[in-house]
Amino acid sequence: MSGEALRARYAAVLERVTAATAAAGRAPGEVTLVAVSKLHPAADVAETAAAGQVDFGENYVQEALEKRAELQARGLCANVRWHMIGHVQSRKAAQVAGAFALVHTLDSVKLADALERHTPASGVQPVLLEINVGDEPQKAGVPVDEAAALAVHVVERCPHLSLEGLMCLPPVFDAGEAARPWFARLRRLRDSLRAECGLPLPHLSMGMSGDFEAAIAEGATIVRIGTDIFGPRPPKK
Ligand SMILES: *Cc1c(COP(=O)(O)O)cnc(C)c1O
Repeated sequence: MSGEALRARYAAVLERVTAATAAAGRAPGEVTLVAVSKLHPAADVAETAAAGQVDFGENYVQEALEKRAELQARGLCANVRWHMIGHVQSRKAAQVAGAFALVHTLDSVKLADALERHTPASGVQPVLLEINVGDEPQKAGVPVDEAAALAVHVVERCPHLSLEGLMCLPPVFDAGEAARPWFARLRRLRDSLRAECGLPLPHLSMGMSGDFEAAIAEGATIVRIGTDIFGPRPPKK
C-alpha cells in the first residue's frame, strides 16, 4: 500500500475511535489504539509511526523481534511501544519478558512463572490476563471461572509482573454489535476480579477492526486494530 493510502486509512480509524469514545460518553484519550502490524512489513510500521502512532501490536515473537531490530538498525521507531497480543509459549518467555510494553496474553500459571523468572530483576513486566470469554474449548485464554485463581497467583507469587487488566477475543468474529454481550462479560469479570485481587485492573483490551465500536461502548481502554489500518494481511509463511 502506498504511504498516502496508509496514512488515510490510519486517519479514518483514529476518527472512528474518537467518535465511538465520544458516543459512549467517555473522555477523549480514554481509549488507546494499538495498531496491529503482524505480517505487515516494517516499512508500514515506520509510516504509521511517522503519522503519530505510538502503540503497535504483534502476534509472533520471532517476527516482532526481527521487525523491531530492522527498524532500530535504520534509526526508526525508537519511541514505539510494542505490545505482545499473540499466544506466548512458556519456552519463549525469555524473549518476551522485558521486551514488550504490555503482554496482553497471559493465560496460565506456567507462563506467569516463566515471565516472572525471566523479567530483569530491576524491572516490571506489565501484563493482562487473556480470558476465554466464551469458554470455547479450542481457544487460547484462561477460562472465566479460573481467572480469579490466576490473578491471585500473579499478585501473590509474581512480584515482577504488574497485572493491569483483561483481554479477550470474543467467540464471534467481525460481528459488530453482536460481540457486545461478550465485551460486557469481560467488563463484569474485571469488576469482580478487582475485589478478589485488590488491584484496580484499569485496562480492558477488547475490540478489533470488525467490532471495536461495540467494545468502546462497553468500556474498552485498548482496541487492537489491524486490517482497517494496514489492509488485508498477507498469509503467514
Ligand atoms: C490480528 C489480531 C487483531 C487485529 O485484527 P483485525 O481484525 O485485523 O483488526 C487484534 N487482536 C488480536 C489478538 C489479533 O491476533
